Amino acid sequence: MKIGFLGLGQMGAAIAANLVRARHDVVVWNRSAEKARSLVDAGATLAASPRDAATASDVVFSMLADDAALNAVLSGEDGVLAGLKAGALHVSMSTIAVATAGDVAARHAERRQRFLSAPVFGRPEAAAAAKLFVVAAGTAADLESARPLFEAISQRVFYVGETPSTANLVKLCGNFMILAAIEAMAEAMTLAEKGGVPKAKLLEVLTGTLFDAPLFRTYGTILAEEKFRPAGFAAPLGLKDMRLASQAAEGERVPMPLLSLLRDHLLQTIATEGEDIDWSGIGRTIARNAGL
Ligand code: NAP
Repeated sequence: MKIGFLGLGQMGAAIAANLVRARHDVVVWNRSAEKARSLVDAGATLAASPRDAATASDVVFSMLADDAALNAVLSGEDGVLAGLKAGALHVSMSTIAVATAGDVAARHAERRQRFLSAPVFGRPEAAAAAKLFVVAAGTAADLESARPLFEAISQRVFYVGETPSTANLVKLCGNFMILAAIEAMAEAMTLAEKGGVPKAKLLEVLTGTLFDAPLFRTYGTILAEEKFRPAGFAAPLGLKDMRLASQAAEGERVPMPLLSLLRDHLLQTIATEGEDIDWSGIGRTIARNAGL
């Protein structure tokens, strides 16, 4: 099976490397071509455009920053839609809007191209270790054809339904909960620290008792060590996700007051710290608001 891979940022480069390592025949493309160099050294082929990568592939993955990036890569003379053969499959792993996923599914269906939406949970370290969680939606047959590829990049695949955009709704719900947990941990750590308890000590107690989950361990350690740079998941991408969750909530008429607070803390963090901070950098904003 020939595989195309579009988008070699922090996540895409790590995922594509695992596909190459699993001895798949991989054609890669990235807007900034220099990011493809190590993959080409590892055995991948470089395509000149998204269209060329798609034309050469039975399955083309995309892992791009946001809705606008995905649209740019899909559309136009050099885009995926123009190159992908009828019957070939596009697997979109980016975190995008629910509405965009629906739109992309319809554009592929018009051309008799297949589409799976398959956003992921896990930071770049998890991607590099092939330990992602894939949340997939589309036809069950399409999922089964992509399953061996997902197995090369993840620890578990969840199938959430026939309608591709449902996977994006699940992903946005998950990212809302991750940031809510970061907010809660950062507030608790700030209280503990001002009261004379080191953050690391609080984390040891919490993760050793009722909060023994990978999320609390990973983000608790980042918060305790204040390791917000280099960003594994940049705050502007997190802000994008809160915006997309908010759009979905507005569409479904679901008030989410906590989501509004998280969005504001991210915005404040980006405004004061810059665009290059990890989204868990809201911990710094929370500490500053308490005078630390
Ligand atoms: P990243 O390192 O910033 O990479 C973004 C990628 O998108 C790069 O390949 C970039 O190309 C490309 N891109 C941006 N704008 C483009 C445009 N207009 N046209 C074509 N390509 C464009 O981001 P990432 O952390 O890998 O995240 C990628 C996606 O995964 C996002 O949707 C994010 O929300 C999601 N995600 C991230 C994490 C995480 O922890 N990082 C975890 C789960 C899901 P250039 O190299 O040319 O800039």
